[in-house]
Order: sequence, then structure tokens, then C-alpha cells
Amino acid sequence: MAEIRGVSGNQKNIRYLSEAWQRGRISHAYIIEGPEDSDKERFADSLAAALLCTQTKPGQLLLSETSPCGKCPSCIKAASGNHPDIIHVRHEKATVLSVREIREQVVADMAIKPYYGPFKIYIIRDAQLMNESGQNALLKTIEEPEEYGIIFLLTDNADGFLPTIKSRCIRLSMDPLPKTETAEHLLDDAGRSVVQILEQVRDMNAVKISKAAKDLEGYEKTQVLALMRLWFRDMMVYKSTKDAKRLYFPDDPALRQMAEEIPFEHLNEILIALDETTDRMNANVKAEAAYETLLLTIRRNSIRI
Ligand SMILES: [Zn+2]
Repeated sequence: MAEIRGVSGNQKNIRYLSEAWQRGRISHAYIIEGPEDSDKERFADSLAAALLCTQTKPGQLLLSETSPCGKCPSCIKAASGNHPDIIHVRHEKATVLSVREIREQVVADMAIKPYYGPFKIYIIRDAQLMNESGQNALLKTIEEPEEYGIIFLLTDNADGFLPTIKSRCIRLSMDPLPKTETAEHLLDDAGRSVVQILEQVRDMNAVKISKAAKDLEGYEKTQVLALMRLWFRDMMVYKSTKDAKRLYFPDDPALRQMAEEIPFEHLNEILIALDETTDRMNANVKAEAAYETLLLTIRRNSIRI
């Protein structure tokens, strides 16, 4: 199994979950709470893969060298992002997770039994974006879940949840990644080249975009994509708050200018394109081709308004 980032600082959660697993006491709903740089998405993805891995036995330490095994058909599906029993709940708008989205993707979907394994696992990123009616719709499912249903609510702030949700979920708090795994570390020479490409992509012609895609291919892809996500996340934060102190890249004037000029819905398109790029690379699309498509999407969505 590839190295599982975000796990090193979270041994307490791994031990806790492994013991629950050993005793057959995996809960139906977890709040996984941690700051932006705690890598809770990858933690939840890895955990889902481990729980469904056909080689992982109850009693085994989860998120270890051998769990998930990374080789069984379930792990291969999980790594490709196409495991039918791992549902990543998506939302159309960047700022809200609607009641319709919760009903369709979680409540109604959970009535259908898992395809392969013993569980069906729902991963809800930015779960604090659920409005009150969304949370109430989810509450019923959390109160009376199917025996195979597991919900991970990922958030950087669980205070936005209704008390009734909080009281029915096991709360796991994630530590930030060690400093070496955060944006600061990413800003080595490779990181600076990636940022330079992001700053200039809106003015690149097709030839320059192809060359940039080729350059990006030379770097570690999880780092490139994590860095890009942080950069555009910063743009979203700056656009909403105008507060440079909250940014990972507080000293980047190009980032702030683009935040002024690019509408929210276009930023949202870019963030969706980043997720899709990750999925495509996991599905073995050649990195250079995936980057080229991504850069073209960023260019198209970063036209000045
Ligand atoms: Zn496996």
C-alpha cells in the first residue's frame, strides 16, 4: 500500500478504531474533525478502504502496512475512486450542501444494500456546509441506520452541527500534519514552479500549457494536486473574507488579484476539476494528459470579469 499521508500524527484515532473493529463495534457515524492541513480526506478514504479490504480481518490494526492491503479487488476499486460501496457525497454549490443532495446521495442510497463488502461508507467532505434541513434529513439516517451503513462527516469545525447530530456521532479529532507535510514544505523548488504555473496559466497559449503540463508531470503528483488545492482554497477564502492572515499563501499578490477577478462559480468549477484530475490519475490516465486538461479548465475559468 502506498504511504498513507495524514496518518502519522493520528495514531490515537487509529488505535481507537482498530479496537472498535476488533470488538465488532464500528459505529455508524463519525465526525472527523481537523484543520485544513490535517489531511482528513485521505484519512477517511484510507479508513474506508481498510474496512472494506478483503484481506483485513477484525482485530487487525487498521491503516497499517497491510490494511488496506492495496492489492485485493476491493482495494483496487477504492484506489481508483470507483468503489460502489464508498460514496463521496458531492455538492453542486461551493457554499452549501443541500437537503436534496443529502437525501439523494445518502438517505435514499443507503436503502440499497452494499455490492461487495459488509459496509457501505459515505464520506461527506465539508459537512459543516449542510444546512439545518440537510442535517435533519441526515439525522434520521444516523438514528436508524442500516446495519451496513457508515457515515464519515468531515469538517474543520464541528460547532456548526446540530447538537442532535453531535450527540449521535463518535467524534475523532485529527492532528495537523507534521510541518514537513504542509504547504510550507511543498514550497520547495518544485512547489514554486507549480505556483508560478498557476499564476500564469490564464495568459498561456496552448503551446505553453502543453509545456507546463509536461513540467508538472515531473513532480510528485499528490503534492502537486495538494498544493493546487490549497492555492485555490486560499482564493476562495480570500474572496469571502479579504483576510490574508487566513491564507497558506499570504504573500502572493497574484493569488489575491485572481481572487478579486474570478467569480465564485468559476472557482468552484476549478475545485471540481481538481477532484476529477485526482480521480483520473487514480484511474491511470497519464499525468501529462490529465494536467493539460486541468490547466485548460483553469484557464477557461480564470478569465477576467
Ligand atoms: Zn485489500
